[in-house]
Amino acid sequence: MSTAIKPSLLPEVEAFLGRGRLASFVGGKTMGSENDNSIATTDPGSGDKLADVVELTAEQVEEAVGVADAAFKQSSWATMPVNERAALLHRLADAVEKHKAIIGQIESLDAGKVQSQAQGDVQNFADTIRYFADMAQHVNPRTTLAVKAHEAWTVRQPWGVCAFIFPWNFPFLLIGWGIAPALAAGNTVVIKPAEDTPLSAIYLAELAKEVGIPDGVINVVTGGGATVGSALSGNTQIKRMSFTGSPEVGRLVGEACGRNLVPVKLELGGKGAAVIFNDVDVADTAQKLAGAITFHTGQVCCDATRWLVHQDIYDEFVNQCVDQLSQVKIGYQLDGQTQMGPVVNAKQRQRVLSYLEKGQSEGAECLLPGGAAKVEGYDGHFVKPALLAGSLDNVAAQEEIFGPVAYLAPFQTESQAIEMANHTHYGLANSVWTSDLARAARVAESMIAGNSWINAHNVFAHGVPYGGVNLSGMGGGVLSFETLMDYYRSTSVVRPL
Ligand code: NAD
Repeated sequence: MSTAIKPSLLPEVEAFLGRGRLASFVGGKTMGSENDNSIATTDPGSGDKLADVVELTAEQVEEAVGVADAAFKQSSWATMPVNERAALLHRLADAVEKHKAIIGQIESLDAGKVQSQAQGDVQNFADTIRYFADMAQHVNPRTTLAVKAHEAWTVRQPWGVCAFIFPWNFPFLLIGWGIAPALAAGNTVVIKPAEDTPLSAIYLAELAKEVGIPDGVINVVTGGGATVGSALSGNTQIKRMSFTGSPEVGRLVGEACGRNLVPVKLELGGKGAAVIFNDVDVADTAQKLAGAITFHTGQVCCDATRWLVHQDIYDEFVNQCVDQLSQVKIGYQLDGQTQMGPVVNAKQRQRVLSYLEKGQSEGAECLLPGGAAKVEGYDGHFVKPALLAGSLDNVAAQEEIFGPVAYLAPFQTESQAIEMANHTHYGLANSVWTSDLARAARVAESMIAGNSWINAHNVFAHGVPYGGVNLSGMGGGVLSFETLMDYYRSTSVVRPL
């Protein structure tokens, strides 16, 4: 229970949370009654309860998929001219942008995200919807094939119901990355938000109805992973599945979809490297990587969590990083001064703290101790940034911690740096830092992952495919033309001449 006088909330947010109990939203109306089970969602910064959110049963999830299937077959969504669908999606993007402060505050409260960052996520959602709505209008549904002695073509059509399961770290932004291409192509969607952060998804579904998206096109089913998540991933009526979360749960979702032969996209965790050569501006690079590891309190799948540093600048780099990270202002997420908010829940804080212990017990050197942080008046899940160093076989260098913890190691040569960067089972995102752009390109192409960034980390431009390989994912990725194509099935039509 927090004792601080909390920043006041927007009246619309007060009213939304004032309902006390929030239901799922399916077919343009709420699903789940007073008598159904619920899961409390709490403010990670204060520990206070925000709302009780209904937990659907497996039968209700099946019913929700049925509603989305009926909307695909019977509403005008799948068959309307693509420019009309795009106009509705633009209307949704406009409404989201107009409600940015409200959705941003709901997201900030629910996920513990610094409020300005949460608002950035909401803007990103609107941008993603517009990006795919515009692109879909330029996709030619029919492609003529030049085949000897035959008339032949392919035709692209939406699949039907596409299901999405999301994690708690970027609840609203990831919904946009997931559903925008599916909707633009004419599919209907069923979204399962994480049980820790369901609020912005519910708000979105209600907003979609207000702007005139047909009922049943955007549906939200709330509840736990083992219940609602597994009912959704095991449903035989869904035509595509997209899961974003941990590799452990990704395996379960992949297995369920495999049994039903449902195509699945898995966007999973990471253990990214930043390779830093001796020709960088050390202070500037330290500042940027300190910013990356503290961004959303390190709960970022593509973060640089292994910092591989040329031995010539290693000591100076470490000093700069310790200096930068020691000054980070940790605080309540709605406080305008806060640079780093809480982690999402007590379990996540314990996870971060236990990796600090396990890493050091396996011999890691502690460069900055980290640990639990106290924020005056708030009883939330705060942690301090930490730096460890040593062997890359250490558990803290191998496993995803998902907190503000970086692991450092020095290197001597370019080939050694590449080998060290690739010493992982993950393959999501790495970066290389150098003023030699030829070397930057060589190293960027040699690191085994879905994404390599040069002199920056966490770069997401619409149009650049983002996805993972190995333990970080499979099935395509997000944010590009290819992603839109994933949401059309193709039929070839042939007539012998
Ligand atoms: P998680 O895997 O524990 O949960 C993700 C979602 O799966 C939640 O909605 C949860 O309720 C649901 N779930 C849990 N058990 C399930 C089951 N048996 N069947 C179906 N669904 C189930 O992940 P998390 O802790 O919410 O998120 C953190 C993880 O997500 C990290 O590993 C992070 O790297 C990853 N992530 C990846 C990306 C990416 O784009 N690659 C983006 C964000 C987060």
